Amino acid sequence: MSAQQPYSFFHSVERSFDKAAKFTKWDLGILEQIKACNSVYQMRFPVKRDDGNIEVIEAYRVQHSHHKAPCKGGIRFSDEVNQDEVMALASLMTYKCAIVNVPFGGGKGGIKINPKKYSEYELEKITRRYTSELVKKNFIGPGIDVPAPDYGTGAREMAWIVDTYASLKPGEIDAAGCVTGKPITQGGVRGRTEATGLGVFYGIREVCNMPEVMKKQGLSVGIEGKTVVVQGMGNVGFYCAKFFREHGAKVISIAEYEGAIFNANGLNEEEVFAHRKATGSILNFPGSENLKINTDALELECDILIPAALENVINGQNAPRVKAKIIGEAANGPCTPEADEIFAQKGILCVPDMYLNAGGVTVSYFEWLKNLSHVRYGRMEKRFNENMNMQIIKQMEDLTGKSVGDAQKKQIVHGADEQELVHSGLEETMITATREIMDVWMSNPEIPDMRTAAYVSAINKVATSYAELGIFP
Ligand code: GLU
Repeated sequence: MSAQQPYSFFHSVERSFDKAAKFTKWDLGILEQIKACNSVYQMRFPVKRDDGNIEVIEAYRVQHSHHKAPCKGGIRFSDEVNQDEVMALASLMTYKCAIVNVPFGGGKGGIKINPKKYSEYELEKITRRYTSELVKKNFIGPGIDVPAPDYGTGAREMAWIVDTYASLKPGEIDAAGCVTGKPITQGGVRGRTEATGLGVFYGIREVCNMPEVMKKQGLSVGIEGKTVVVQGMGNVGFYCAKFFREHGAKVISIAEYEGAIFNANGLNEEEVFAHRKATGSILNFPGSENLKINTDALELECDILIPAALENVINGQNAPRVKAKIIGEAANGPCTPEADEIFAQKGILCVPDMYLNAGGVTVSYFEWLKNLSHVRYGRMEKRFNENMNMQIIKQMEDLTGKSVGDAQKKQIVHGADEQELVHSGLEETMITATREIMDVWMSNPEIPDMRTAAYVSAINKVATSYAELGIFP
């Protein structure tokens, strides 16, 4: 809670849920069950710092819903971690998975540390200890609860987790499925790293391809030429900027906590990233203008604004000054319910987090399936498809007497590899989810915004699955 935010993050998720629940037919008891966090595990454990001092670490794992197993959701390392935040994020995971038809309950974990203040060795000790605490309480496992990266964590931490888990569970053949977002060599899947950013791109592209929606926003159809502002240059923000730029949009501003930069002709995220690495800051990037404070970027005139960092950055205070026509919530919970009200009045279309940033968990699902099947995607069919396609081309050439050019032949014959299959599965998931939510929204003129429509869709799916289990006849 803060001056701008008079209630907690979890409460703000509950408020959005309640707003949507009115548009469903479910009894209060069912809605209460869906909303509640089923299990909250708060732990404290000691770690010996490199200087010899002992520090007590505070950490959490929350399982919001067991309507499907396993639970799924990332682990964040941040100074700001607290029980309420982890509960809110775990709840969002339940709704997110339901919307994109990923068969998991929601979960989330957090360790209250600033990873920048710890050595790699200390981080490894903390991650491994956290994992063994989860094992002790049966809070992790391929069929129980499957963590993944989140703010402040990545493939390295996931490798420590799977290694700790596997060593405590000798002979468990599916041990690799206890966590996702792993390095490829440890059972990861190709395409997971860029998945959240790519999912955001696919989702927004689908919205931008809807002529009636674009007309309402006063924009032309398609991504090409759109001006984009990205807040956050972590994994998600970086890949958002990359995919929008590669598809013809102009990323006019990038913001990080040290400040923001602006260039009306567009920025290249790879160059900005390299500059930040070399100088320690995105500021003073050649050819661009520095913005005084990073939050100024959120108020720039642009077509698409992508908050890709932390929660509550657009709230009742600054939302009236936001000039974007579309907001794509790449982060979890970047806009508060007050901001939603203001967007509705101003006609700003806010494409909600719990479906738009579902690319990460969608590809995590593909990774988990790969771990359970113990085979790389494409391994069985790639050659077979190539041989079949070659036969078809040969037949066509014989029948028509014309030959297909080499480059074209290569393109047609080509069998899909793991990354292409993952991207294609993600594209299908995001397009379907976008259309489903839009259909819910359009089917009831009383539904005020896309977030509410997304919640309606999620609540209906979770409630139906409870009802089908016979829990709520
Ligand atoms: N941390 C990501 C999220 O918030 C990914 C979760 C996962 O892959 O389980 O969606």
